[in-house]
Amino acid sequence: MTATHSTRMLILGSGPAGLSAAIYGARAGLAPIVVQGMQPGGQLTITTDVENYPGFKDVIQGPWLMEQMQAQAEHVGAQMMYDQIVDVDLSQRPFRLTGDGGIVYLADTLVICTGAQAKWLGVEGEEHLAGKGVSACATCDGFFYRGKKVVVIGGGNTAVEEALYLTNHSHDVTLIHRRDTLRAEKILQERLHAHPNIKVLWNKAVDKFVGGGTPEGLVGIDLIDTVTGEKSHEPTDGGFVAIGHHPATELFTGKLPMDEGYLLVEKGTSRTSIPGVFAAGDVTDKIYRQAVTAAGMGCMAALDVEKFLAEADFEAMAAE
Ligand code: NDP
Repeated sequence: MTATHSTRMLILGSGPAGLSAAIYGARAGLAPIVVQGMQPGGQLTITTDVENYPGFKDVIQGPWLMEQMQAQAEHVGAQMMYDQIVDVDLSQRPFRLTGDGGIVYLADTLVICTGAQAKWLGVEGEEHLAGKGVSACATCDGFFYRGKKVVVIGGGNTAVEEALYLTNHSHDVTLIHRRDTLRAEKILQERLHAHPNIKVLWNKAVDKFVGGGTPEGLVGIDLIDTVTGEKSHEPTDGGFVAIGHHPATELFTGKLPMDEGYLLVEKGTSRTSIPGVFAAGDVTDKIYRQAVTAAGMGCMAALDVEKFLAEADFEAMAAE
């Protein structure tokens, strides 16, 4: 027989958003269940140094921070499930979700914190040098390149914002784009072009991230001109890939409204279009994408859950 778990608060995802929601939910006496998903701990478990999460004077490690958050959530009463949801039915109450081993979760409220994954180029050297010069987050890692030469790859808002941000640390920033026009907003483009410390390389695709030195780190990027096919090499200390993100929302396609795959929530809240279903963190945020903002949104979601449960008339909703 397959197990069934009933809960007042089911949380999907165990990054900073999910675990913050769990901490607040547990302390409110809601005994939340956290379904941890494919990557327990989320994106921070694949980063190393974290220097911008408030509360720590010294650099901390991403995986350690997530272990602490999980331990804190468990300590106050959240239950962790090492499971992956494969089916969601939001048309009945309680909501019914099924894990990949067949476990059924019946939930009065659902908080979706499934996060997003940075898109990578998939070229040689990228994976090997990730964390050793190659990064997908300038806000997280830019600080480590003070006074060094950096490049940003991409042509959207994120790439241009990251290039501008990196000028706070570096006097030598290069944006590399595969075409000859950017898709970023005009105002950002104007700022980019007006900045004396940013140059743009047009029509260039990355062929390879090149490592060197001891300990090994990124030393340059091999490029191919997308128009002429000509090869070139750009020396650099840091390579920031900014070609977009994949929010993990496949489970909710056709069930909840989205914008470019990101779950839509009512402004200033974590409420989705279905009462009792909430979203927090990168799954609903294509702009800030920080651990601390995700944690803040997780807290908001737990407070929204509490309010919803206090006011909800489940009998009336079931009869709808
Ligand atoms: P986008 O999808 O807007 O842009 C991705 C960029 O990466 C494009 O220029 C694209 O090139 C390039 N790219 C994609 N794949 C590759 C590849 N394999 N090789 C080389 N280049 C590649 O992603 P963003 O993260 O910039 O933005 C996502 C959404 O978030 C957008 O709606 C954006 O407006 C929004 N956003 C808003 C912000 C704000 O309002 N402040 C800040 C950040 C994001 P090409 O142009 O040729 O397709």
